[in-house]
Amino acid sequence: PLVAPAPQPFPELCARIHARVAAFLDEQHDSERLKSLQAQTRISLDIICEALEKYRLPELSLAYNGGKDCLVLLILYLCALHIKGLTPADPNADPDTAIKCVYIQAPHPFQEVEDFVAASVKTYSLHLLEYAKPMKAAFTDYLRDVPVVKAIFVGTRRTDPHGEHLKHFDPTDSGWPPFMRIHPVIDWHYVDIWTFIRHLNIPYCKLYDCGYTSLGGTDDTHPNPVLAKKNSNGSVLTTPNGTKTAYFRPAYELVDDYEERLGRDR
Ligand code: FAD
Ligand code: MG
Ligand code: MG
Repeated sequence: PLVAPAPQPFPELCARIHARVAAFLDEQHDSERLKSLQAQTRISLDIICEALEKYRLPELSLAYNGGKDCLVLLILYLCALHIKGLTPADPNADPDTAIKCVYIQAPHPFQEVEDFVAASVKTYSLHLLEYAKPMKAAFTDYLRDVPVVKAIFVGTRRTDPHGEHLKHFDPTDSGWPPFMRIHPVIDWHYVDIWTFIRHLNIPYCKLYDCGYTSLGGTDDTHPNPVLAKKNSNGSVLTTPNGTKTAYFRPAYELVDDYEERLGRDR
């Protein structure tokens, strides 16, 4: 894998990630999918580097919920920190060098998501604050608790609800606590996200191997029905005891952006 679960010194971690991303960008590919992913990766890195020029490191944070999109964003952020020479020996030794993240817990979180977020904090030496309330209220509290934050990276993509008209940099809408949203992966497709994660061998939340394609809470998220394994006669495989794990294909086998949320109730 790209990173070992055990923590490694932050500068080495970022250097290793940067080396892997740089090697990917140098690869010669005939596949249109990989060529366009290389182009998207360059754009996203440019946006993150631009953010690091507009804002000081302590003013930046990342909205991280353990999902695939903000995972890609996190990897690119750490890569950009290496490019910009912003990788202190121990980021958590000083509030000014901490890699700030904010996680809003769902009312009924999956244990697998909680575990993956906790593992990410260790692996990537993140400084993560967690809130268990609706998003607007959570970000209001976050800005009160960490008033130095001026801009937050968000892993929203074009095909997400509300993603259609977003730019790389957008102030929050009226009614939201005021800060800049930064959307470096806004133009990535669902397939790009999985191609990147698998091509670079980035560890991800294991729910995705059980057919979940979009992660919410246990009360509103199911494996994606499009990924249900079929019998040779075309009927869906089911078990009497409701254990469906083995009966869904992994998330990375889905292709269509608009089918991603078919495992969600709302
Ligand atoms: P997902 O793919 O689940 O999420 C997209 C990205 O949002 C993730 O990659 C991650 O970066 C972030 N995110 C999602 N859920 C969480 C969570 N529980 N904890 C931490 N990060 C999370 N909506 C508006 O209408 N106007 C706004 O001004 C506005 N500002 C926002 C600012 C921030 C920092 C965030 C995170 C959200 C904001 N939203 C705003 C809400 C946003 O439009 C989405 O509704 C929300 O991110 C949920 O995304 P999703 O579940 O549709 O997609
Ligand atoms: Mg998403
Ligand atoms: Mg979500």
